[in-house]
Amino acid sequence: MNRLQSSAIIDLIAGADGRETTEQIYAAWFIALQPFDYKLGIEAASLVIRDDKLNRNPQPKDVIAKIGELKEKQETDLNRARALEPAPPSKGVDQPLCRAHNQQIMFCKPCMDKAHQLSKVTGGIDSPEYHTEFYNLVAHRPT
Ligand SMILES: [Zn+2]
Repeated sequence: MNRLQSSAIIDLIAGADGRETTEQIYAAWFIALQPFDYKLGIEAASLVIRDDKLNRNPQPKDVIAKIGELKEKQETDLNRARALEPAPPSKGVDQPLCRAHNQQIMFCKPCMDKAHQLSKVTGGIDSPEYHTEFYNLVAHRPT
């Protein structure tokens, strides 16, 4: 992120805890947060100010720790999405289309959620029942 973006993050945190911001603080936060993505950073900052365990004077390391947690969660969500697709095609273009919206299933959130629900009631993504129901209810193979 750039200096303006890291300043927006410390401003958000300062707004929440009422601290004074100085040029030194802006500079220190910029150095600490510069390697990170702004979108993750601002999301992490909003988590930091809502975290009861970190209510006093959060530091850049607290934001960076939350960025790490967010990245981990993104990874988990991505892996979960991959795991829910019963027969992973070799090419993305072959992936099943959802019945409701005729979109590639991996890119349709409501239908991925439906597949996730289905995996819970059918005994998991490895069960034959899931596979059958997935194609009956959620998706079809592109023709
Ligand atoms: Zn859909």
